[in-house]
Amino acid sequence: PATALTEERTVDSLCPFCGVGCAVRYRVRDDRIIAVEGADGPANRGRLCVKGRFGFDYVHHPQRLTQPLIRRADAPKDPSLSGDWREQFRPASWEEALALASGGLKTILEQQGPQALAGLGSAKGSNEEAYLFQKLVRTGFGSNNVDHCTRLCHASSVAALMEAVGSAAVSNPVADVAYSDVILLMGANPEANHPVAASWMKNAVKAGTELLLLDPQALPLARHARHHLQFVPGSDILLLNAMIHVLFEQDLVNWSFVEARLKREEVEALRQAVQAYAPEAVAEQCGVTAAQIRQVTHVYASANRAMMFWAMGVTQHTHGTDNVRCLIALCLLTGQIGRPGTGLHPLRGQNNVQGASDAGLIPHCLPDYQKVAEPEVRARFAQAWGAPVPDSPGLTTVEMMQAAHQGSLQGMYIVGENPAMSDPDLTHTRAGLARLSHLVVQDLFLTETAALADVVLPAAAFAEKGGSFTNTDRRVQLGRPVIPAPGEAKQDWWLIQQMAQGLGLAWDYQGPEQIYREMQALMPSLAGIPYERLQAESSVVYPADDPAQPGQSVLFAKGFARPGGRARLVPATPPQQQENADKDYPFTLITGRLLEHWHTGTMTRRSQVLSALAPQAQILVHPETLTRLGLHAGQSARLRSRRGSVVAQLLSSSQVRPDDLFLPFSFREAAANLLTRDALDPVAKIAALKLCAVALEPVA
Ligand code: SF4
Repeated sequence: PATALTEERTVDSLCPFCGVGCAVRYRVRDDRIIAVEGADGPANRGRLCVKGRFGFDYVHHPQRLTQPLIRRADAPKDPSLSGDWREQFRPASWEEALALASGGLKTILEQQGPQALAGLGSAKGSNEEAYLFQKLVRTGFGSNNVDHCTRLCHASSVAALMEAVGSAAVSNPVADVAYSDVILLMGANPEANHPVAASWMKNAVKAGTELLLLDPQALPLARHARHHLQFVPGSDILLLNAMIHVLFEQDLVNWSFVEARLKREEVEALRQAVQAYAPEAVAEQCGVTAAQIRQVTHVYASANRAMMFWAMGVTQHTHGTDNVRCLIALCLLTGQIGRPGTGLHPLRGQNNVQGASDAGLIPHCLPDYQKVAEPEVRARFAQAWGAPVPDSPGLTTVEMMQAAHQGSLQGMYIVGENPAMSDPDLTHTRAGLARLSHLVVQDLFLTETAALADVVLPAAAFAEKGGSFTNTDRRVQLGRPVIPAPGEAKQDWWLIQQMAQGLGLAWDYQGPEQIYREMQALMPSLAGIPYERLQAESSVVYPADDPAQPGQSVLFAKGFARPGGRARLVPATPPQQQENADKDYPFTLITGRLLEHWHTGTMTRRSQVLSALAPQAQILVHPETLTRLGLHAGQSARLRSRRGSVVAQLLSSSQVRPDDLFLPFSFREAAANLLTRDALDPVAKIAALKLCAVALEPVA
């Protein structure tokens, strides 16, 4: 007779993958998740994508870390990541591992000073964990060398938005597309990366909203678009400046909005700056027609309500900040902001990349974007924390890898991030990580980054902990523990606290609730969201001033968060340091994600369903290119850039232009970032991860 099964239970929580922040209901039996269903959350109303619905089983994967690991004395770090790196580690007790982890950092601090240490926190952890981590680096390490993966995705959006409108988050939620007459979508593939958000957009199109798609790839979403500008990769500044030119040329500027909300002299400076960008002057370089540029601009500007979305096709360039400045200028000059169905929406990637940035997990800002450079801000936090707050600028993610390579950075604590896959120029990055004299990695699996660690701390997965998470709409939502963590794995907040205690900090937090209360007291945006409200409502939009009122889902109805309420316009300059295709590297490689896989694949490639759906990396090549090169779909080919090479299978696809190729970056065996460059945007320090020049060669 079959053993009687224990009773099934359900727990309502959130999806751990993208920034849409879908509410899910976990079905659990015997402390194992057996199914996930969409719940009635404000972001999804029961909808889920394939990742949210089927990508949960990574939590039960046999490769989960269940005890601390320490590098064996006879196992040197191997940046080539060859062989089975699990053999390089031995199990250890928590006592031994934590003493070594924090002791190694402390020794570096005492001998070489605060600048020899840095921390990378996680956009997949909770707000409380992000808050604690940045507090640890600032008060324990004594520097602002703290960052996370926002540096690789929307740092340029944050920089441009802060500069222009005084707020780094979206102005309107995704669901506002229901009120839009026009959606302008640039450099984003929401069907793959924010699928439920894409479903709201498609619903809006079905109901009559017009979609304008600006993207070098003919994404499947193009079939829903009224206009698709399939521009040449890297010609974005030309294209956007031409669109701004058209606003002035065809008198599409909303002058009453401009008079009330912008500075006339900045508008004039922008008009002068785009004078040389007539559509006829740039259309050929952009690979579109002047008429198309005028049409798209006209449709956007003349709409009653137009909303703008963008993602990493816009941001991951050395001119990423300038790209976003141009989008903001288009929006502001036409007055498409401050009302439902309008506004600016950078589609945030990870489930908590918005919250992690808000909580201060960035080098130049304390929680709520309060600048470390301002003495009164530092004084306020120093008083609250009982410890001085360092004032010197901190290193950003890619700068940390460069400093590690140069030897000025000696110790790192990395929680839930995988720079050995996600950072540009991986050969250089991995060599830098291997050069560190002390690396502590805290994660679910023995990732490519953990392979180069001295100490590995096993952490609880999303479903094994509680805390608050902030989605792309600025919704602070409560994640609830669903199952216990396996073996000896611990919650991230507890581990961060152990590290802090090892460094001499007298922390004694009892859990996420206490941490949230401390964080909330220091973040004006959360003033109206006490913990009790979060527990009762599960999901509240910030900013919220009054606990009895809903938060503000639409920002800037009356003014911008800047002096005098006026926004700032900054003209973009032509990009100087792009790597263009040439005779040796004749193709432009576009990197990105797939619907089935999330970022470096740590979780989704350990999901049976997702892995079965997309088991390997494939290079998308236009059919004409295959014919011209005598190649065929299904064969293996080598992609070679100035920095490295990878081999993957060819897939014939008209999605890419004949001069372009596409490779997803989630697959270690064909890691796209072995090819990319670590050149940085001078303002936001985001790397040029989106494009690079490559050669394509057959492999015998
Ligand atoms: Fe999860 Fe994003 Fe898919 Fe929603 S859209 S189910 S949050 S991955």
